[in-house]
Amino acid sequence: GGFESMEILPEVFRAVKRKGYRVPTPIQRKAIPPALEGRDVVAMARTGSGKTAAFLIPVLSKLRTHSLKAGARCVVLAPTRELALQTFAFAKELSKFTNLRVAALVGGDSMEAQFADLSNNPDIIVATPGRLLHHVEEVKAFTLRTVCHVVLDEADRLLEMGFADQLRQVMSSVADVRQTLLFSATLPSALAEFVRVGLREPEVVRL
Ligand code: AMP
Repeated sequence: GGFESMEILPEVFRAVKRKGYRVPTPIQRKAIPPALEGRDVVAMARTGSGKTAAFLIPVLSKLRTHSLKAGARCVVLAPTRELALQTFAFAKELSKFTNLRVAALVGGDSMEAQFADLSNNPDIIVATPGRLLHHVEEVKAFTLRTVCHVVLDEADRLLEMGFADQLRQVMSSVADVRQTLLFSATLPSALAEFVRVGLREPEVVRL
């Protein structure tokens, strides 16, 4: 199946074509359909596999339009500021024909500028774990309870970098009814345990 056989939001499909993507990469072919169905997905994928679009295409398709009253509905967690900022830029590109709002909350940037971004009611927040939780604790009006899509990008590195407690805190702060998409190059036992506890009957996708 090509992209046209998937139930991608037309506005997102248009941005995908604008990027020049003609056929889905193997990880996209396997991960996008179950993600569009709302299932949890564990995808074994490294950088260069097209993993970023594999989670952004279904999440943007499911969110569809900006919602002021729903609050933030998707959090994408990345292990580093650089990866988070790249993913943020990519999310803006793939959402440019929608009215969805994307914000980045990464360490090293000014809290003040990020408060302003949060007051703009983003639908999607791309973040590093420490800075995201700092905002949740600082800004009492900002809650993760409304978040119903969680993406863990480079999950093995998130654990290696010591973010296990923060990941658990995020998972226990978001909505109970949620979709989790987890992307990782490797599946060490600590990550397998995290998946067992935190995800619900995930579709496991390998190349
Ligand atoms: P990633 O693995 O997400 O870092 O993506 C690696 C590179 O592949 C990026 O430059 C993407 O823009 C590109 N890419 C992702 N999906 C496709 C596709 N279906 N066709 C061509 N290039 C793609």
